[in-house]
Amino acid sequence: MARAVVCLLDGKKIDVNEALQLRDQARQRASRPNFRCMECEEPVRAHKAGGGAKAHFEHYSRNRNCRLSDTGR
Ligand SMILES: [Zn+2]
Repeated sequence: MARAVVCLLDGKKIDVNEALQLRDQARQRASRPNFRCMECEEPVRAHKAGGGAKAHFEHYSRNRNCRLSDTGR
């Protein structure tokens, strides 16, 4: 299963660790960065590593047409 570890933010490619930092900074300003899937450009959110999984992005709503969308559950 593909896991997205990069995304687009304002048209720029960033990796998940960078995204997590930006998200935490944004949270203090009560805002949310507009992360987008590299492949389908649907909104995604950054997840920290945990429970055996590496940090990655997940789509807010699953996109069957995107191979980076998590269909494993
Ligand atoms: Zn996607």
